Amino acid sequence: MKLNEEIESKLKELLVEIESEEAFPIIKFIINKRNVSEFKISDKLLISINQVRNLIYKLNNYNLVTYIRKKDKKKGWFIYYWTFHVKEALSSLDNMKSSKIEGIKKKLKEESDTLFFSCPDKCTRVDFETALENNFKCIECGKVLKEESNVKEIGALSKELKGLEKRKKEEISN
Ligand SMILES: [Zn+2]
Repeated sequence: MKLNEEIESKLKELLVEIESEEAFPIIKFIINKRNVSEFKISDKLLISINQVRNLIYKLNNYNLVTYIRKKDKKKGWFIYYWTFHVKEALSSLDNMKSSKIEGIKKKLKEESDTLFFSCPDKCTRVDFETALENNFKCIECGKVLKEESNVKEIGALSKELKGLEKRKKEEISN
């Protein structure tokens, strides 16, 4: 798969999601190659072998890369050779976005369904049932709980949800 502008921006988006933005040059370097030596990455990008490893292990945690390792006969240690999987990366970005949308929907439902009570000192925020069980008192400090209006939260969540869904739609139609 060629690294065009669209794929590049998606990969950057994915790296933001997994907090690995600094790994982008590595991806850019190995994207259309197979089994690239970690030492070659280090040489080409002028970053230390440890930095390469830290960044790429993080990608490995998300199954975006795979490796083979070979023993260096002279030195006796293992060298790792990495391959980046662009299709898997793009589909995990889609999955992350979908689960983010699901999460917000769930939260939105919870907020809309539930009446919340919070402590004036902000130590606790509980639903009606829990508040009732504790005689409408804060379990941390004992102050009387106040009924909370969650209109603001609902508004913010709805806005976020709309934004995410709109972006998803645009991507599908592209
Ligand atoms: Zn309290």
